[in-house]
Amino acid sequence: MKEILRKSIQSGNKVLPELEAHKICEAFDIKCPPTELVKSKEACIQAGNQMGYPVVIKIFSKQIVHKSDAGGVIVGIKNAEQLSESYDNMMKTVKERCPDAEIEGVMIQKMMDKGVEVVIGAIKNPQFGPVVMFGMGGIYIEVFKDVAFRLAPVDKAEARRQIEQTKIFNILKGVRGEAPCDIEALCNMIVNVGKLISSYDEIEEIDFNPVICYPDHCVAVDARMVLETVN
Ligand code: ADP
Ligand code: MG
Repeated sequence: MKEILRKSIQSGNKVLPELEAHKICEAFDIKCPPTELVKSKEACIQAGNQMGYPVVIKIFSKQIVHKSDAGGVIVGIKNAEQLSESYDNMMKTVKERCPDAEIEGVMIQKMMDKGVEVVIGAIKNPQFGPVVMFGMGGIYIEVFKDVAFRLAPVDKAEARRQIEQTKIFNILKGVRGEAPCDIEALCNMIVNVGKLISSYDEIEEIDFNPVICYPDHCVAVDARMVLETVN
């Protein structure tokens, strides 16, 4: 793992490429959706047919951090025809919005069902060291600021208290007869993110936004890891 991180830093990456982030996640038992990186529309369609629909496509470029803002995420693609259209549309929009970005490819990912979207993140505080963040996900994160922090590493009981401290916990428990989310799995993910950030000097920041929660598991569909800068 260290090897992956060092190589990526040496090649000048500030953010670890998603597929490499997935490898690290796997080593820490953090679930991510099946994802492939493709370099052409033909390869993309082939991957979609193999993966099975619905799929999501995402732009892959070092210069694009917030993919949706650039028009670089299309969800809910149901078949090869839609995939072909979406691919062209995404390329067109991204080129318009980010004319200077170097597009390295497209990530095609299995579309996950609707669930409760939360955020799990981690930063390295210069004073306190690694800190794990949990909170409400989605586009309203800035508005509601429904987040709780803990010093890493975090144990499971502490992770549960961290979740319970947020308002989104009430939704995770299930509202109006909805099935509750797998809070146990979410606690494990927080614990594992705490272990991850504590294990590598090379990782400055982690941002899993969103993690989608279901009654029987949870999945990080956007796994961003910010690397340390070399001097
Ligand atoms: P970014 O944060 O860079 O804009 P994301 O990968 O988070 O890009 O995708 C944007 C949004 O699309 C997510 O917040 C989520 O709601 C949805 N999304 C992304 N990937 C998936 C997926 N595999 N399954 C279902 N929904 C997804
Ligand atoms: Mg995101």
